[in-house]
Amino acid sequence: MPDRSLNEPARCTPLLAETEVLVLGGGLAGIVAVASAAATGREVLLVERYGFLGGMGTAAGVTNFCGLHANVHGQMRRVVRGVADELLQRIDALGGLNEPHSIFGRTLAQAYDGTAYKCAADELLLARNVKLLFHAQAAGVAMREADHVDALLVETRSGRRAIRAQTFIDASGDGDLFAWAGAPWEQGDAQGELLYPTLMFRVGGVDDARAGEAWRDVGPRMLQAQRSGRHHFARQGAILRPMKHAGEWRVNVTQIRNAAGRAMDGTDALQLSAGEVEGRRQVRDFFAFLQSEMPGFESAYLLEIAPQVGIRETRRLLGRRVLTAEDVLGCADFIDAIGVNAWPLEQHVAGDVRWSWPAEGSRGFNQLPWRMLLPQRVHNLLVAGRCAAMDSAAQSAARVSGACFVMGEAAGLGAALALRRGCAVADIEVAALQRALQDQGAYLGKDIA
Ligand SMILES: Cc1cc2nc3c(=O)[nH]c(=O)nc-3n(C[C@H](O)[C@H](O)[C@H](O)COP(=O)(O)OP(=O)(O)OC[C@H]3O[C@@H](n4cnc5c(N)ncnc54)[C@H](O)[C@@H]3O)c2cc1C
Repeated sequence: MPDRSLNEPARCTPLLAETEVLVLGGGLAGIVAVASAAATGREVLLVERYGFLGGMGTAAGVTNFCGLHANVHGQMRRVVRGVADELLQRIDALGGLNEPHSIFGRTLAQAYDGTAYKCAADELLLARNVKLLFHAQAAGVAMREADHVDALLVETRSGRRAIRAQTFIDASGDGDLFAWAGAPWEQGDAQGELLYPTLMFRVGGVDDARAGEAWRDVGPRMLQAQRSGRHHFARQGAILRPMKHAGEWRVNVTQIRNAAGRAMDGTDALQLSAGEVEGRRQVRDFFAFLQSEMPGFESAYLLEIAPQVGIRETRRLLGRRVLTAEDVLGCADFIDAIGVNAWPLEQHVAGDVRWSWPAEGSRGFNQLPWRMLLPQRVHNLLVAGRCAAMDSAAQSAARVSGACFVMGEAAGLGAALALRRGCAVADIEVAALQRALQDQGAYLGKDIA
């Protein structure tokens, strides 16, 4: 309890809706969770604080899918399927999907246009009869019993409202819902350190031909500029990549610290606020470097600074099985596999990005267990996305798009199965879930040792 506080008057909150499945958060995990639950015919409502879908993928300007492909014994293969296929097709149909590009020659990633993604996600969910509640900031829960969530409380432009549901999925990225519901969670590594946040931005007006493969040059040129004292950077190296449309590039380079010099905490309102301002300061600095030191960027302009700072890691569920770094690096199998993670550890540490890969020549992915979506104590709640149960290092891998697709799809189908059987989410038959996932076209990673 803070030193200074006040008691709010008690209030009677109008009920806005009742639904079978309520998903909090319209990021990748939430989009896929509602899409897959709705495909079973269940009544599904998605609550999102912004007026558009995509979460970090759009609001934070990520605009790049990682973890869809794996380097399987030296061959690149697409290993995340299911609802992901439909979303990507819809983005492509809107002219917003790049061809996959190489990451250090070891795997692939695939860039997309953020506006096309927003529209494709709308189309996908409307086609599946999902109800959308935008501009609704979830602010708490009402519990029926200590282990059962009754309703989500939301602040909307029409005032505070309650929404009842039978099953809830926390896809908020920050674990807001599970924290309010009293499920155990943790934050940070053994030293309490989080992955560093980044404010993303895009530039337009780049001379693509002169810029060439600028992503290779940018690191050495940054080093030179820093050594000569012309520029100072918050982290070594940058991700500088061309987007779908001519002359447009995205930049992933800023690194946001708090006043104590540690990674900014995305669950701290004051740090978040200061972090946005610091992020824009770093963007302008880096943009000056691009214009003055990178061929092809001389006449570029700042096209967009992402609407919000990109948060990689905050709360992580302490679920029934916590995915570990050893699972990722050792390409682990699980009896309750729901799909795979194919991304290496990508740790955004102070001043740098540290990569750790499964052994060369391995199958290049680990399975993800159903139990990492299951909270302790609360029986009608599932968790999907970057706040699911992973240790800090494993989260640096399975927070990316591929694994979020997988977790969202399993959460949506798992919620629907629990409703059909009238049981707690933890008591569904895992084999039935795996069949349902495969029926939707998901890949469980069971055919390759
Ligand atoms: C800077 C940066 C770069 C990245 N680069 C890549 C990359 O190149 N490729 C890749 O695949 N991944 C990348 N990632 C990781 C990836 O984008 C995210 O981890 C992933 O999008 C997480 O998806 P999610 O659905 O779990 O959560 P989020 O995307 O965080 O979505 C959560 C959603 O919930 C909503 N929400 C949260 N709390 C509330 C509330 N209380 N009330 C209402 N709504 C709420 C949010 O508005 C948001 O829409 C990057 C991340 C960052 C930050």
